[in-house]
Amino acid sequence: MRIVLGLLLFVGVLAAQTPPAEELKQEARERVEAKAKLAQEITDMLFSLAELGYQEHETAKYLTGILRYEGFRITMGVSGMPSAWVAEWGEGKPVIGLMADVDGLPETSQMPGVARREELVPGGPGHGEGHNAGQAVQTTTALAVKEMLERHGLPGTIRVYPGIAEELLGSRTYMARDGLFKELDAMLSCHVSSRFLTSWGNRELALVSTEYTFEGVSAHGAGSPWKGKSALDAVELMNAGWNFRREHLRPQQRSHYVITNGGNQPNVVPSEASVWYFFRETDYANVKRNHDIGTKIAEAAAMMTDTTMTERIIGSTWPGHFNRPLAELLHRNMGAVGMPKWSDDDQRMAKAIQKLMGAEPIGLRTEIEELKGPTLTAMGSDDIAEVSWNVPTVNMRYPANVAGAVGHHWSSGIAMATPIAHKGVVTAAKVQAMTLIELYTSPERIEEAWAYFREQTKDVQWKSLIPEGTAPPAHLNADKMERFAPQLEKLRYDPERYETYLEQLGVDYPGVD
Ligand SMILES: [Zn+2]
Repeated sequence: MRIVLGLLLFVGVLAAQTPPAEELKQEARERVEAKAKLAQEITDMLFSLAELGYQEHETAKYLTGILRYEGFRITMGVSGMPSAWVAEWGEGKPVIGLMADVDGLPETSQMPGVARREELVPGGPGHGEGHNAGQAVQTTTALAVKEMLERHGLPGTIRVYPGIAEELLGSRTYMARDGLFKELDAMLSCHVSSRFLTSWGNRELALVSTEYTFEGVSAHGAGSPWKGKSALDAVELMNAGWNFRREHLRPQQRSHYVITNGGNQPNVVPSEASVWYFFRETDYANVKRNHDIGTKIAEAAAMMTDTTMTERIIGSTWPGHFNRPLAELLHRNMGAVGMPKWSDDDQRMAKAIQKLMGAEPIGLRTEIEELKGPTLTAMGSDDIAEVSWNVPTVNMRYPANVAGAVGHHWSSGIAMATPIAHKGVVTAAKVQAMTLIELYTSPERIEEAWAYFREQTKDVQWKSLIPEGTAPPAHLNADKMERFAPQLEKLRYDPERYETYLEQLGVDYPGVD
């Protein structure tokens, strides 16, 4: 009863002091629109930094610099990851999080705005998935809503989090384990797409990412092979064992591996060899079982070869489960904002990319998609899922890229520092800001989200798939970034001198023949 009275009082106070909801949402849109230049600069800057997972140091410095200047309190290096951070502004409840991935992908360096393969840094990293746009959305949203909380004297706390090393499905299981999402009332995540959509219910697959390393004894491959114990033999036997076993696993499973170390040269018996596995299944229990089978096969391979085996877990995630009331709220606001207004040049750019990639020349999408319910047809994994089992979470896929560009590929980078990305980012930030202000001013929306969440977690309690004490593999990609840093530094976007990154690179948009 006291809670109900308190709630009524809270709503009453809000009603007395703040403008009606529709007016607030309109204000949120306008404040985002006024920050369109900042949104473009962040999008272009992150594109130019092109940092790989766990090495997003310049990206972190740049983003936290903007947020700190605006009065956000910054905690750097959270959960044992030097490039991870949390930014917080405001006081009291509700506490709402904004999160988006920030990492790039190897070998996807690409000149933006041209419909041809042209690397900026030969062999270098790039934003071949478009993760440069996500924090442009969230930072713009955070700053617009912060202004509104200030102006209207509303209580509430905004938290901004980066998705570190999403391409390695690395970071969020560590952040969740360390309780970084504990005080949140809701989390709004977003991810770049060619579509405009959101969904609720179970999505995608659980995953364990782990590396098995075998240690043997080196010897001359011809002179005295009987003295050697081949670690590579163990890797090959493990893979053979796993490939036979696959047939007797549930058809829902997906698994794949790469040999990350296969020795040095044929005439030296490899004393060390490693293989990196992804085990995927539809839920915690099944992915855990397949991981256990994999480890048993690795132990057996070590036994067969008289080598020793060690395992290094790299990351893991549950399958996602997104919150229905939050998804419905978000979807209503998507409908109110509508799709970006694409220009003829944007459409020409999109069609040229589609032609280049042999995809259907449909241009840029112009329709918002229906709200989607649970599905098991999406066979990937995304570690935002870890958050979705700890706090009511929703993920918006916003239209800032081109259909037909291949995922995790340079073609997905072409549009990501062009007006297509810039317009998509502003559209997404408007929806986020409207949703956020609605959550800050309507406690019943948060209560609905929690009612659903309690139902979701009634019989299923999240626990991390990584063993206790596992440290994040923050060393990954350090060698690659070190190699490319000097070239990337020269290509860094300079917003003081150039309006856009395209202007800095001398690209005449759209670069189509
Ligand atoms: Zn992603």
